[in-house]
Amino acid sequence: MTAKAKSYKFKTEINQLLDILIHSLYTNREIFIRELVSNASDALDKLRFEITSGTEIVDKNLDLEISISLDKENNLIRISDTGIGMSAEEIVKNIGTIAKSGSADFINKLSSEAKDKDVSNIIGKFGVGFYSVFMVAEEVVITSRSYKPEAIPVRWTSKGTGSFKLAELEEDLPRGTVIEIHLKEDAKEFAEKYKVEAAVKKHSNFISFPIKIDGEKLNTVPALWREPKTNIKKEQYEEFYKYLTYDSQEPMDTIHVSIDAPVQFNSLMFIPKQTFDMYGISKEDIGLDLYVKSVLIHHKNSDLLPEYLGFIKGMVDSPDIPLNISRETLQENRVVMKISQILIKQVLSYLEKKAKKDADAYDEFWKVHGKIFKLGYSDYANQEKWVELLRFDSSATEEGKTTSLAEYVERVKEEQKEIYYITGASREALQSDPHLEIFKRKGIEVLYLYDPVDEFAVSGIGSYKTDFKLVAVEQADLSKIEKIEDTEKEESTAESLSEGEEKVFKKLLEKVKDILGDRVTEVRESKRLKDSASCLVSPEGEMTSHMQKVIQMMNKDASVPKKVFELNKDHQLVRNLLTIYKADPKDVFINETVEQLYESALLLEGYLTDPHKLVNRIQAILLKSSEWHPAKK
Ligand code: ADP
Ligand code: MG
Repeated sequence: MTAKAKSYKFKTEINQLLDILIHSLYTNREIFIRELVSNASDALDKLRFEITSGTEIVDKNLDLEISISLDKENNLIRISDTGIGMSAEEIVKNIGTIAKSGSADFINKLSSEAKDKDVSNIIGKFGVGFYSVFMVAEEVVITSRSYKPEAIPVRWTSKGTGSFKLAELEEDLPRGTVIEIHLKEDAKEFAEKYKVEAAVKKHSNFISFPIKIDGEKLNTVPALWREPKTNIKKEQYEEFYKYLTYDSQEPMDTIHVSIDAPVQFNSLMFIPKQTFDMYGISKEDIGLDLYVKSVLIHHKNSDLLPEYLGFIKGMVDSPDIPLNISRETLQENRVVMKISQILIKQVLSYLEKKAKKDADAYDEFWKVHGKIFKLGYSDYANQEKWVELLRFDSSATEEGKTTSLAEYVERVKEEQKEIYYITGASREALQSDPHLEIFKRKGIEVLYLYDPVDEFAVSGIGSYKTDFKLVAVEQADLSKIEKIEDTEKEESTAESLSEGEEKVFKKLLEKVKDILGDRVTEVRESKRLKDSASCLVSPEGEMTSHMQKVIQMMNKDASVPKKVFELNKDHQLVRNLLTIYKADPKDVFINETVEQLYESALLLEGYLTDPHKLVNRIQAILLKSSEWHPAKK
C-alpha cells in the first residue's frame, strides 16, 4: 500500500535543538499543544487565503477546523487540520531544516545559555515550534495531503533522534495534516481530556478556527478587537497580547483603535515591557498581523508601521482592503497607506498623553524603546510630534532622569539661540570632558548623547521649533557663548599676560605647530578650556568627532583625522612651557610635553591606537619628578 520510505538525516541545528528540548526543564511541556495548534491554524489561514484568491483546491467542502482526538489506552494524541497540507518536497523543506533567518544563531545561543532552562516561551518565536512535540513524544507520525489537486499524500515518521523517514502514499486522503503523537511513558497525562482542554483554553483561545476535542467544540472564536472598548477587561487584553507574542509578562501599554472614517478598521497594539532583541530577533518579527474581515491575510506586515515604531506588537482588521490582495501590492494599496498614517498618529498621540500624565512611566518606556524610536527622524510628516517625544540625558538632569527639548528650551539663557549637545561613551566620561569646561562656567545646559544613532537623529532635527538650532559643543560659536555671563563666579587665578608675553605665546603656538606638523590642521589659543591644558576640536565646517568616528567605523577606516589643537593659555603647565620657551626655544622638554599633551588629547577622543609611547613618556616624567621628591633629598 505504501511506497518505500526513504530515510533522511536532520540538519545539525535541528539535532542541537532536539538535544536542548530533551534536556530542558519539563515545567511547561504542554506548550507543544500550542505550537501544533498554531501550525494548524496557520495552515488553515493559508488555505482560506487561497480560497479567496480563487485558486483551485481539493475537498472544497471540508470545514475549516482543527480536531484533537485522544486515545488513552494507546497513549496517543492526534491533532488534525483541514489546512493547506504539505507535499513530500514541502515537508522536507519545512520540517527538517530551519528556514527562518537568525534561527540557527538562536539555537546556538540557546545551547550555550539555556540548557536546563525553561525554553518553552521562546521556542515558538523562532520558526522551530514544531520540534517541541519531542518533549512528550516517543514517536511522531505526520500524514499530510496538500490542497493542490495533483499532490500525492505523504507520511513522515521520526523518533526525534537524528533522522526521519518519508514515504509517498498510494491511497488518496482528505486535504490537510494529521499529527499523531505516541506519548512517552512519563507524558501519558497528555492523552487526558482535562489536561489538553486546559492547555488549549490557556494558550489557543484566540485561534480563529473551531477547535474540537473528541468531536466537542471548545473555543468560542472571539474577535476581541471588534468589541466595544468598554466591554473589554484588562485581563482579556493581556491574554490576547500573550497569545500574540509569547511574552510571559503583561504589556507595558495597550492601544485599542477603532476608526470608521475615512477608512474603517480596528486595531489592537501593544508596547512590550522589554525588547525582544535579546535573542537577535530579525526584521521578519517586526510588524502587525493584518486581517481582512477577520481573515488573517498577512502575518507580521511591516508596511503598517514604520521602523521606528517597530517595537509595537499587534494586529489590524479592516473590511476596506480587498481579501485577495497580494503581498506585493499591499504596500501600494491606498487603504493600507491610510490606515498606516492613522496608526502612526494614534501611537504618537498615545505616547504624548503618556508623557504628560506620568513622566516616570514615560522614562521607563524611553529606556526600553527609545533607541529604536529615535530612528523616526526620517518621518518628516510626523516630525513635529515625534521631536516632542524625544528624551535626553543632560548636564541639567539628575542621574537617571531625562529632559525633553521643550524643557531644555525653558531653561536656556536669555540670549541663547542654540541647543548644545555632546556625544560620548557615558555620563561620567562626559562630565569631565574638556570641551564642556566653558559651558559649565557659563551654566549652559548640554545634552549628553551616547548612541551612534543620536547624532543622526539630532542632525535630522536640525532646528527645534525653527528657533533653536542643535549644535555640537565642539562646533559652537564661542564668541556668542563668551558674551553670556559666568555663573561659576570663580576668578581665574592666572594673571594676564603682558603684551610682550602675548607675542612670545604666539611664537610658542607656532613652535607647537612645527612639532606636530601635519598631524594637526592648526594650533591656537583655546577659549573653551578652564581646568585642562589642551584639547582637540574639529575644524569649522567639518563634522563632529563622534560623527566622524561612526562613519570611519562603517568604512573600516582607522586613520586619525586632522584636527585643531587648542592650548589653554591660563593653565599652569602652559605658563611653565612659556617660561622654558623664553629661556631656550630649543629646549627638548617642550617637544616632549607637546607630544604628551597631543597624545593625551587623542586618547580622550578615542583615537590613540598605540599607547606605548605615551606610557613610556609618563614613566620618564614620573621618574624625574620622583628624583625631586623631598624624601629623596
Ligand atoms: P513556524 O510555524 O514558526 O514556521 P514550526 O516549526 O512550527 O515553525 O513549523 C515549521 C513549518 O512546517 C511551518 O512553517 C509549516 O510550513 C510547516 N507545518 C507545520 N505544521 C503544519 C501543518 N499542520 N500544516 C501545514 N504545514 C505545516
Ligand atoms: Mg509554528
